Amino acid sequence: MSIKTTRRDFLKSGAALGAAALAGAPAWSAGAQAPSLPAGPSGLRVVASANGVRATDKAMDLLRNGADPLDAVIAGVNIIEDDPNDMSVGYGGLPNEEGEVELDASVMRGATHASGAVAAIKNIKNPSKVAKLVMERTNHCLIAGEGALKFAQAYGFPKENLLTEKAREAWLRWKEGLSEKDDWYPPAKDLPENLRTALMTYGTINCLAIDGRGDLAGVTTTSGLSWKRPGRVGDSPIIGAGLYVDNVIGAAGSTGFGEVNILNLSSFQIVQFMGQGMSPEQACLKQLERVADKARLHPRLHGSDGKPNFGMSYYALNKKGEFGAAMMTGPGKFSVHDGTTNALRDGAYLFKA
Ligand code: ASP
Repeated sequence: MSIKTTRRDFLKSGAALGAAALAGAPAWSAGAQAPSLPAGPSGLRVVASANGVRATDKAMDLLRNGADPLDAVIAGVNIIEDDPNDMSVGYGGLPNEEGEVELDASVMRGATHASGAVAAIKNIKNPSKVAKLVMERTNHCLIAGEGALKFAQAYGFPKENLLTEKAREAWLRWKEGLSEKDDWYPPAKDLPENLRTALMTYGTINCLAIDGRGDLAGVTTTSGLSWKRPGRVGDSPIIGAGLYVDNVIGAAGSTGFGEVNILNLSSFQIVQFMGQGMSPEQACLKQLERVADKARLHPRLHGSDGKPNFGMSYYALNKKGEFGAAMMTGPGKFSVHDGTTNALRDGAYLFKA
């Protein structure tokens, strides 16, 4: 992608699909595997976004040793939060438009129907752990910005620089490419391509689990949209949007264009669809269809063909231990540990790339 890429272009193309990718026919493709093993002592399950293979592995390991499912998924995503090479989550995440990393995270425990979240928190590597403290040590559901940082520090979290050199370089390339009329000059053309081009990646990790008692839990953690306005909060810390868990029905989470998810309360709605009898995969696809319908009403959210111009992926796990995922545009993968095997699996999708 050119360093002259605008933020608007980024929203279209950085979503891992973009308007061009949506040129394919609607697909309603089902994912390759449709598991239906019962939950229970042999029915441990962990489901995550495609960047979560190490998270599902870790969480399953803990579940097998009797860990609480929320502790298990948080320990799983901590691996990704700590990884400087995942530029969508925690340490090494892409920064806001001022070059500062701001993180969002939420957790929800089905057994107690309790949640906690932090939004736009700076300098704290593991916002998912802070979200759990919000749930356990306050009466609040969400603490944002400076207050979230102070809260974390009160509980002993160290203030750290989360901006890696790689993320700073990516931000600088974006900044220098915004205009030819300012005095932020892009580097000389003879630099290697990877230093001339802003990295337009973004993402999130969502991780859901069910334990041997049939208790469900989930976590979503992210650095959000890169180059976002300072203080912008996405769907990840909004319960019902980026994460929802109902211990009677199931759990759902999302990655993708957060504003659309906030507008559609997608995770809550997916759980409701499962409560009406849909499989996790059907529920994810049904919500994608609704989101695509609504996107047709908004000029900035669809291409000239009427298809959504943003990325969206949903993950779901029900009380029986059945799981599924679906993407607005596929094919795409998600990570599952089904108690036996930890692997990436094919998700379903609404439109084919
Ligand atoms: N949902 C995240 C947000 O909007 C971004 C992503 O999942 O890629 O902040």
